[in-house]
Amino acid sequence: MSKRDYYEVLGLTKSASKEEIKKAYRTLSKKYHPDLNKEVGADEKFKEISEAYEVLSDEQKRAQYDQFGHTDPNAGFGGGGGFGGFSGGAGFDFDDILNTFFGGGGGARRRDPNAPRKGADLSYMMTLDFMEAVFGKETEIEIDREETCETCHGDGAKPGTSVKTCTECGGTGQISVTQNTPFGQMVNRRACPTCQGTGKIIPEKCPECHGRGKVTKRKKIQVTVPAGVDNGQQLRVAGQGEPGVNGGPAGDLFVEFRVRPHERFERDGDDIFLNLPINFPQASLGDEVEVPTVHGKVKLKIPAGTQTGTKFRLKGKGVPNVHGYGNGDQHVIVNIRTPKKLTEKQKQLLRDFAEISGHEAPDEYQSSLFDRLKRKVKGD
Ligand SMILES: [Zn+2]
Ligand SMILES: [Zn+2]
Repeated sequence: MSKRDYYEVLGLTKSASKEEIKKAYRTLSKKYHPDLNKEVGADEKFKEISEAYEVLSDEQKRAQYDQFGHTDPNAGFGGGGGFGGFSGGAGFDFDDILNTFFGGGGGARRRDPNAPRKGADLSYMMTLDFMEAVFGKETEIEIDREETCETCHGDGAKPGTSVKTCTECGGTGQISVTQNTPFGQMVNRRACPTCQGTGKIIPEKCPECHGRGKVTKRKKIQVTVPAGVDNGQQLRVAGQGEPGVNGGPAGDLFVEFRVRPHERFERDGDDIFLNLPINFPQASLGDEVEVPTVHGKVKLKIPAGTQTGTKFRLKGKGVPNVHGYGNGDQHVIVNIRTPKKLTEKQKQLLRDFAEISGHEAPDEYQSSLFDRLKRKVKGD
């Protein structure tokens, strides 16, 4: 019997994506499912579709098929009685069959249990004070981590004994299970129950790790928090995750940062914003004030006639960029405070001031307010 091309069966081209393959399979398998389609030849068609999907949905099998064509005609299917004997839908769940192909025992998840694998990654949440995030720090953290068992050096066998290859599955960790279904017999690959898919049997288990080959230990790890880290950023500490399997490399440790807010500084990326309250005479006559920055106090000249909301930029007084691209800036936003309590003398002086000035806001105030609005509209 000459076989049709699997891509042709599913109505796809060789460049079809995983999603397209899945979609084509879902559509066609519903169309030709013997439970739903009683036409002559539908069952054969369904079988053909399922077989094509079984191969094309498995990356390894697909690659092999692309290179060599049909090499394993019964992949995933036993000879069995085919689909012919099925006579009706009684007690049969369509989803069961789909699950057989989509999840369950299909070949997709098969892998060599003896191949080296990278250890699992670990994550750790670190809370930093605002200033610690700005300038970084050296610190030590403690994590619970799986370590290779020193008693058995990781193989899980009691010292003096050795690990045996599982005879049930021949060390592959997988066995073939023949299932009787309404469609006939189907062969599925399953994790070997004797060795739990490891391919190995430990006749005498290590007393320290009970055969796991690993023990959980509290481990101290030195972490260098780089200057300039921000909320939600992660630091990868290579090789500090869990140990690899079968001689594979260790996983990584990911430290994620939470940064506590500061009572005066507000951070946006590498820039810092500071609200600076000044009084009306300072704003009117000008002044020189001291402003806090994360790098210490800095003198700032307030020009005469400064308005509320005026922003001054202190170049380079922001947060060091975490990737080393220099410092951000500090933006000082002036906020003119109106006094709430006044002495009689102060009140008198202000009355005099008001009398000289008249009751309307001075022209220059209005024009500068207008300018600011204009700038805002222009996005300055
Ligand atoms: Zn051990
Ligand atoms: Zn086994």
